Amino acid sequence: MNLQENLKKYANLILKVGLNVQPGESILLHLDEHSLPLAREIARQAYKMGVHMIQTVFADDEMTLARFLNAPDEAFDTFSPFIADFSEAAYNSNYHQIRLSAPNPELLKAADPKRISRWLKASAKATERLMPYVMENKVKWTIAALPSPVWAKSVFPDLDEEDAVNALWEKIFQVTRVDQEDPVAAWDAHAKALKRHSDLLNDYNFEKLIYQGPGTDLEVYLPEGHQWLGGASVHKSGAAFMPNIPTEEVFSMPHADKVNGTLSATMPLSTRGRLIEGMRFVFKDGAVVDFDATHGKDILQDMLDTDEGARRLGEVALVAHDSPISQTGLLFKNTLFDENASCHFALGRAYSENHVRGTEMNEEEKKQAGMNESLIHVDFMVGGPELNITGVKHDGTQVNILVNGNWVI
Ligand code: ZN
Ligand code: ZN
Repeated sequence: MNLQENLKKYANLILKVGLNVQPGESILLHLDEHSLPLAREIARQAYKMGVHMIQTVFADDEMTLARFLNAPDEAFDTFSPFIADFSEAAYNSNYHQIRLSAPNPELLKAADPKRISRWLKASAKATERLMPYVMENKVKWTIAALPSPVWAKSVFPDLDEEDAVNALWEKIFQVTRVDQEDPVAAWDAHAKALKRHSDLLNDYNFEKLIYQGPGTDLEVYLPEGHQWLGGASVHKSGAAFMPNIPTEEVFSMPHADKVNGTLSATMPLSTRGRLIEGMRFVFKDGAVVDFDATHGKDILQDMLDTDEGARRLGEVALVAHDSPISQTGLLFKNTLFDENASCHFALGRAYSENHVRGTEMNEEEKKQAGMNESLIHVDFMVGGPELNITGVKHDGTQVNILVNGNWVI
């Protein structure tokens, strides 16, 4: 593997397919110490494409951890509004967002979970007004990941650090199609395939989905006016962009009040710097009424207690078990990858774009329509080779959608 060559192709893919950057636009670039080589490659190419300015926002794991361990306790309830002002002003000045993330899945292991949840609550509240910019595609935005040494070691514990980083790079290049001859063309074809499935599901206009698998027997109603999406999102300018690289999902919104039965997660969830394993839920009328986890139940409890909507589903997503990510057979311990290896749901907020009138409805109308509201949106995996999903149309006709984890429509 030629790392330098692949970095160039990755940067090109992020700019052309991820952001679909146009001459005259500027970029708000979130990065950390590990993403510098990729960020520099992005800069070298972006300006040649006509970008006016790249404004960086730097974050560092060591500094984040130092704050959670050593800052005074009262520091975790206030998030200075000027930080949200900065992003909002950038979004309103033709800046579009690239987030390069080299995650450390267990960064906050030693931190007090109460501090973490207080801080997440404070920052979510202060940045709530930013959510429409990304959730309603008022800006173009994309997220791409790269290995941090700690992440690479957690995925490949038997390799030394350098080999682990290289091995993870190789997997990332594989599942993002960067290792293919022409990654941009490969993504065009892939986006079309996702669009075909979402169009089909929209044509069926199912009333509900039935999930059956080990530990799962669940009925999920879809709101009237729900909309399936997959692949590219469309910015208000009409430009298509790819919010997540990779993405393998076709997704919509479940009815916030009409989910019943039992649901078992099929992969651990890495969140808040911790791993939650063996999650099981019981749903009644849309809400989690009972739950358990073999590890990290306290984190899960805390997450569910964020607000009323945190106990309800805001996203239903279908991913084929034979997608390139599940074919690696790897647990990436990172949501961006793992959610694209498997069918998933999200607890919390629904995406407006998943409802035909999502951006026009007021709060009351959204509630009436069955669209969930919350400060959180956390994906967790439910798919696998034993999952079957059946769609039920309004006239009662049943259609197999996924059998043994793979598309049959
Ligand atoms: Zn999703
Ligand atoms: Zn999601």
